[in-house]
Amino acid sequence: MDNLELEPITLEGVDNNKRPVLIAGPCSAETEEQVMNTATQLAAKGVKIFRAGIWKPRTKPGSFEGIGTEGLKWMRRVKRETGMYTATEVATPQHVYEALKYGIDVLWIGARTTANPFAVQDIADALRGVDIPVLVKNPVNPDLDLWIGALLRINQAGLKRIGIIHRGFSTFDKKIYRNMPQWQIPIELKRRFPNLPMICDPSHIGGRRDLIFPLSQQAMDLQFDGLIIESHCNPDDAWSDASQQLTPDNLIDNVINRLVIRKAVQSTENLEDLRHQIDELDEQLFEIVAKRMRISKEIGIYKKEHAITVLQSKRYQDIIDDRAKIAAQLGLSSNFAKAFVEAIHEESVRLQMEIMNGN
Ligand code: PEP
Ligand code: MN
Repeated sequence: MDNLELEPITLEGVDNNKRPVLIAGPCSAETEEQVMNTATQLAAKGVKIFRAGIWKPRTKPGSFEGIGTEGLKWMRRVKRETGMYTATEVATPQHVYEALKYGIDVLWIGARTTANPFAVQDIADALRGVDIPVLVKNPVNPDLDLWIGALLRINQAGLKRIGIIHRGFSTFDKKIYRNMPQWQIPIELKRRFPNLPMICDPSHIGGRRDLIFPLSQQAMDLQFDGLIIESHCNPDDAWSDASQQLTPDNLIDNVINRLVIRKAVQSTENLEDLRHQIDELDEQLFEIVAKRMRISKEIGIYKKEHAITVLQSKRYQDIIDDRAKIAAQLGLSSNFAKAFVEAIHEESVRLQMEIMNGN
C-alpha cells in the first residue's frame, strides 16, 4: 500500500476551511510592470497567493520560454509590496535553488515534469531538508500511478506539505477541452488519500475563458479544496495562454463570487459525484461516437471511389454478432446491445448514403 505522510499546508492568513483556496496570477511573468500591475489588482481583490511561471515548458520551441531568474526579483517585489505569497513552477534542481533563493513560498511541479520520474527525483533530491509546500500537477497522460509515484518521491525526500493540482490530460483527438478533465482520476486519488489537498486548474483544463467558471463550479462540487486560475492585467496581449487568462476583476467578480459552495460530505460516492461521473462518461461516449462516424465517412468515400455498395450485409451481421459477445462479457443486456449497434449502424449508413449521393 502506498503511504503518504502528510501535514496540512498552513499559510498564515489563508483559511484552508474556506473553499476555494485561490491561487491566481499570470501564466508567465513577462515584464515587471505586467507582474506588478496584475499582482496589485489581485491583492486588492483579496487574493492571497500569487502564481506566475518563470520557466515555461512549451510544447514547441520558438514560443516564449519564460523570463527566467530576472522574474524572481519581481516575485520578491510582489511579496514585499502586496503581502501575497508567491508560487511558481520548478522543473530542475537549478529552478529549485533559484526559487528558494528569492523566497518563493509555494512550488509546483508541472504536468510534463510529473510524467518524467528522473526529473521528479532530481527535484525531490534538491528539496531534501527544505520545508516548503509542493503541489504536484497530474502527468500529461492519464496515469494515476505515475502521479502517485511523483507524490511519493517528493514525500520520501522529507516534504510533508504536499498537495495536488488537477489540470486535465492531453489527447490527440479533437475535443471541447484543451485537456480532458477525466474527473474519475482525481476522484480515485482522493479516495486513496483523503487528506491530500486538491486544487483544480480550470485554466489548463478548459483552455478557454468561458470554460473557467463551469469547470471551477464542477471542481467545487467534487470537493476540491482550491483553484489555481490564470489571471493577467491584459489577457489578450499575454505572451502565453492568452485565450484562457482572465482579468483580476473578471476572475473575482464573474468566477469566484458566482461559485455556489456546497457542503462537503464524507463519502465521495454521493449523488453529486456519481452524476458528475455520468456527465463525464457521456461526454467521452459522444466523443467516441463522433470519432466512429468520422471513420465511417472515410469508409464511405472509399466505397464511392471503388464503386462498392454502402450496405455490406455480411459485415453488418458480423458486427452484430461480435458486439453481442463483447456486450455479454461486459454484463450488458443483449437487447440493449443490439438496439445500440443498430442505431449506430443506421447513422453510419445514412452518412455513407449522403456521400454516395454526392453530398
Ligand atoms: C502552467 O501552470 O502555466 C503550466 C505550464 O501548466 P501545466 O504544467 O499544467 O501545463
Ligand atoms: Mn499557462
